[in-house]
Amino acid sequence: MFDVAGKSVVVTGGASGIGLGYAQIMAERGARVCILDVDAEGIARAAAELGGGTWGQIADVTDRPGMETAFRKVAEAHGGIDVVFANAGIDAGPGFMDPLGNRNPDGHIENFGDAHWDRVIAVNLTGVYNTVKLAAIHMKAGGGGRIIVTSSVASQINEAIVGTPYMAAKAGVDHFVRNMAMELGAFNILINCINPGPFMTNIAGGRLKNPADRAAFEAQSLIGRIGALDDIKGLALYLASPASSYVTGAQIAIDGGSRLR
Ligand code: NAD
Repeated sequence: MFDVAGKSVVVTGGASGIGLGYAQIMAERGARVCILDVDAEGIARAAAELGGGTWGQIADVTDRPGMETAFRKVAEAHGGIDVVFANAGIDAGPGFMDPLGNRNPDGHIENFGDAHWDRVIAVNLTGVYNTVKLAAIHMKAGGGGRIIVTSSVASQINEAIVGTPYMAAKAGVDHFVRNMAMELGAFNILINCINPGPFMTNIAGGRLKNPADRAAFEAQSLIGRIGALDDIKGLALYLASPASSYVTGAQIAIDGGSRLR
């Protein structure tokens, strides 16, 4: 029921964090995994750690020709594409600070850094569109498949810490996925969102590793802690496997209940 052995799997942003967790569980269960990421060193580290034929390609989800080439290479190497995790995402890195040095300065739109808005929307929303489009093309050719998109609970609730462009992008992702579910169901392609709450990863410069930030997020969780990669692997496996064959267009929160406070 949870069998993914031999499946051809693509994970965008799989060199680190949540995407690495997806790649780990898929490889552990015998799938053939290709990581697409902008971090060459991270790809090499992940491929060495996972073994079992896991490989990767440098690809930026905002670069359409580059993504087309990367997907084509996976399809050629694996004989098709069965499961795609559209996961790559960014929060505000130091390069995308607003002029005042904050991600979301004092709530005033006139103080927003336009470059920050453009890049977060490009990676987190347009990057998902690019990835899902290519997944659909290859899966239609192969007779079906599974697409799992990493959204965020910030798509549904106000989380000032991640910034307005991030929340807007993730809300767009949720609705895009619902619309794609309506279109792709007839082609035996199921598409769902995983909506994480705070997880200990490198996003936003590893802010969650900072003790003060971490304590604030732990206090928000109903079970007193933030997420670890093992917390998300079971859901990823479920959505990639025959166990979820009647699930599409869903947004599944995995956040220790923190969105309820
Ligand atoms: P992370 O920084 O640890 O990993 C993100 C990965 O994506 C990195 O390997 C990075 O190199 C890659 N990446 C960034 N831009 C890319 C691009 N343009 N093209 C290809 N790869 C790119 O962060 P994470 O927390 O694991 O983030 C993964 C996803 O989870 C994101 O979509 C993020 O929004 C979402 N998310 C994270 C949290 C959290 O608390 N960590 C909460 C909710 C949602």
